[in-house]
Amino acid sequence: MRCPKDKEESLVDVVLSGGLTAHHCPACDGNWVESDIYAAWRSQQEERLPVPLPEDADMGYTPAPQDARAGLCPNCKGFLARSRIGLNPAFYVERCSRCGGVWLDQGEWEVLQQLGWDGAIDHLFTEDWQSEMREQEYAERERRATIEKLGEDLAQQIFDLTEKLAHHPNGDFGVAYLMRRFME
Ligand SMILES: [Zn+2]
Ligand SMILES: [Zn+2]
Repeated sequence: MRCPKDKEESLVDVVLSGGLTAHHCPACDGNWVESDIYAAWRSQQEERLPVPLPEDADMGYTPAPQDARAGLCPNCKGFLARSRIGLNPAFYVERCSRCGGVWLDQGEWEVLQQLGWDGAIDHLFTEDWQSEMREQEYAERERRATIEKLGEDLAQQIFDLTEKLAHHPNGDFGVAYLMRRFME
C-alpha cells in the first residue's frame, strides 16, 4: 500500500497511541486507518461528539505541508474528501468517499486525541459538522473584513460592544439606538 501523498512511499504497519492499528508513511509521518479497523476500535471508546472550537482556540499545532495536498485512497483509489477541524490553524482530516478509510497527516491523530475527538471522526464528515464549519468560516471572514475597513482598534471596540450588547438583557435597545443614528 502506497502513501496517498507521496506515491513512491510504501506504508508500514503501526499501532497509534490509544491502540489503533494503522498504516504509517515513514516519509511524511501520515497514517492510514482502514474503516473496519477504525469502527471496531471506536466501538470500544467512549463517544464524545465534537463541538466547533472557538475562533481564537490555539491548538499549538502546525499542519503538515502535505495537509493541503489532495490525495487518492491507497486502498481503492477513491477520492479523499476533506473535513476542516478548527480554525487556528485550520487543518483537514481526509476520508475516502468510497471505502471510508481515513488519512491523517502528521500530528493530526494526536490533536484529535487531545480534543477527545478521536472516536468521532465519522461525525466530522456529517452535513451538520460541515455546515457549522462553513458558518464559522464565514463569520471569521466577516471579522477580518471589519478589521480591514475599520482598523484593528475600532474593529476591536465594535467586537467588544457587540459582545456586551449580546449579553445584556436590554442589549437590543443599544442596537436600535445605533441603527436609528445611522438611518436618519
Ligand atoms: Zn507519505
Ligand atoms: Zn478507499
